[in-house]
Amino acid sequence: MSFIHSIKFRFTIWYLLVLAVLLTVLSAGVYFYLSRSLYRSQDASLELRSKEICSVPPVLESIWQGEFQEELGEIVMLYFYTGSQLVEVSPPGMNITLSREFIYQAINGRSSFTTIEATEGEGLRLLAVPIHLGVPGLPLSTQPGALIVGRSTEQIDQALHGLVRTLAIAVPLALAVAAGGGIFLAGRALKPVDEIARTAQEIEENDLSQRINVSTKDELGRLAATLNQMIGRLEKAFQRQKQFTSDASHELRAPLSVIEAESTLALQKERPSSDYRQSLETISQEARQMSSLIERLLTLARADAGKEQWNFREVNLGKLITDLSTDVEVLCQEKGLSFRLERTQDLVVKGDEARLRELVMNLLDNAIRYTPAPGTVSISLRGEGQMAVVAITDTGVGIPAEEIPFIFERFYRVDKSRSRINGGSGLGLAICRHIAEAHGGRIEVESQVGVGSTFSVWLPLQSP
Ligand code: ADP
Repeated sequence: MSFIHSIKFRFTIWYLLVLAVLLTVLSAGVYFYLSRSLYRSQDASLELRSKEICSVPPVLESIWQGEFQEELGEIVMLYFYTGSQLVEVSPPGMNITLSREFIYQAINGRSSFTTIEATEGEGLRLLAVPIHLGVPGLPLSTQPGALIVGRSTEQIDQALHGLVRTLAIAVPLALAVAAGGGIFLAGRALKPVDEIARTAQEIEENDLSQRINVSTKDELGRLAATLNQMIGRLEKAFQRQKQFTSDASHELRAPLSVIEAESTLALQKERPSSDYRQSLETISQEARQMSSLIERLLTLARADAGKEQWNFREVNLGKLITDLSTDVEVLCQEKGLSFRLERTQDLVVKGDEARLRELVMNLLDNAIRYTPAPGTVSISLRGEGQMAVVAITDTGVGIPAEEIPFIFERFYRVDKSRSRINGGSGLGLAICRHIAEAHGGRIEVESQVGVGSTFSVWLPLQSP
């Protein structure tokens, strides 16, 4: 990534633009404020000087006589009428032209200021005030006149030029320092981004154990922590996936090995037909188990891919349980267990009847499988608030408390060997939980080793 396209660069450019605008506005403000106050103070001093001159008649007289000694850089002039002619009394060698309007305004009684260019580039600030030449000793004492007092603006102009020169150096310098500082600070602040990018590049599908090493408490630190959590979740998901694949192959290999061994053994020599029948029965049973396992694997794969077709409609749970009971009773009798259909109600839920049947049947299957004769398997249905609760209870082997959190995981079995011999695949409860959750419900387990287990399925009731 080129520097020009980096956030660091864009961030610095924007920051410099804002700073440049601010500094320019500030400099202009300082310039105008200083220039206004310098001119104002010069105007005030011109006013004071004009008052001083006007209040002392001998001074006026000396101006009139051309004997007045001006201060350094000062100009004092008199204008008045003799008859209809305007007479100008100005220091010898003075060569400036004033506008008539400026003079007449003062003669007519109104003071005013003006600025003119006296010599090349040098300004002259002038104040014209009205005077009455009612001074004894002055001729034409009744005539109104104008006193002009002026001072060079050279010092003010020099001060202002000095300010402009200083600002012209200071502002770009400040911007250059700010640019350097900006790039440095932005680089420091965005350093974790490089670290995040580097770690992300290093992470491969097979090695998700890496984590981003950013421990700041700012936004980037939070981002790194969130990404680390995400990588952690991905790692777990990949591990589950790996475990699932290895478990699935293992599960499929077991019945295949039995089929292979059984057929090899049967084919080794001529045998009586009863032996062949026995072998074929074993092979058929293993094939059925494999087919049921593959069926369940497909169910879970469809669930994972979100490609299941649900056929939701009103399902009367009471009726569904009563229907199942007949078959379950037979299965229980075959195993020497007693079956009890406890109280049921006509509770209606919104669901997929076939999948709900599968859910209840799986749990009943497990209850029968893990209950030795002479035990009891029972089922009940009750309403609790807005939920219907189907409870399947057995007096079987029970589940140790420390195993309960894992029994809904795929391929998890409490007693690995016993479960396989019983025909279990380790996928039944994972499918049950999936079906319950897809209906907005859940499954709870209460169990005690040697006493029995109760699996309760909570499903939201159809709102009236
Ligand atoms: P399986 O097909 O092996 O029964 P499940 O997913 O249905 O797989 O159950 C997972 C494990 O939970 C079983 O292997 C078994 O150890 C335990 N289990 C399930 N139901 C019961 C029950 N009613 N009584 C005792 N243990 C049970």
